[in-house]
Amino acid sequence: MAVLERIKHQDLEGLRTGHMNLAVNTSFVVFRLGDTLIDAGPRNQWRHIRRFIDERAVRQLLLTHFHEDHSGCAARIAQHLQLAPRAGEKTGFIMRHGFQIQPYRKLMWRSAEKVITRPFPDEIIISGRDQVLPVATPGHTPDLHCFLLPERGWLCTADLYLSSRLKLLAREEDLHGILRSMETLLRHDFDTLLCAHRGVVTHGKQALQTRYENICQLVEATHHLQHQGCSVSEIRNRLLGREPAMSFITGFHFSKRNLIEACLRIPQQRTQQAA
Ligand SMILES: [Zn+2]
Repeated sequence: MAVLERIKHQDLEGLRTGHMNLAVNTSFVVFRLGDTLIDAGPRNQWRHIRRFIDERAVRQLLLTHFHEDHSGCAARIAQHLQLAPRAGEKTGFIMRHGFQIQPYRKLMWRSAEKVITRPFPDEIIISGRDQVLPVATPGHTPDLHCFLLPERGWLCTADLYLSSRLKLLAREEDLHGILRSMETLLRHDFDTLLCAHRGVVTHGKQALQTRYENICQLVEATHHLQHQGCSVSEIRNRLLGREPAMSFITGFHFSKRNLIEACLRIPQQRTQQAA
């Protein structure tokens, strides 16, 4: 069963694709603003994405990071439209050499094909009028960039928002980096988020601030319970409850336990400063 939804916000258009609507990250939104695509979408959704991009002249593809749901169709789009996707240096390196993914991710999105990208130019402009500022926001992955459209007050957050509460963490995610990157973003002006899985989020700055504060509170509570002598499992059960189906499906690559362990790796002084 395909998940297909058209998204419209002023002159921004989006296409939600995917096999299922199980959780926030089991479908994906490709955004198009004027002549520019933001992220390429997963490779197993190519037939839908191709129809979407063929509706208007697309001259530019910007990639936020290498993850296969964001980059999977980049090689196909590059070939189809005869363009070189624009991406940060680290993303470009990974996309040039290719990367391995777990079987459940292959099943969900298929692997991304290798593609040659070009670095972001000094000035990124959409349709001759909208300026785009890439902001390095490592944490979710080391190569992640969010895109700020200052005149519109829009922030393309890729995978940095998703929801007001972080519930699961992938094993390789750097929670400390995520918090630092959120602090960087919150210093900018914006009011709408373009989230690759959630879609358009209005009151976006408040939404991102809430997610940030929720993570800080979780870090604080995790340390507090550890000082009381609780084990990681006890802390998880008390603060987040038992592991959901997603943890088992992903072989615990995504889990609540990962999140609690990541909270414990964050120095407690840091949370006290943030509080
Ligand atoms: Zn991602």
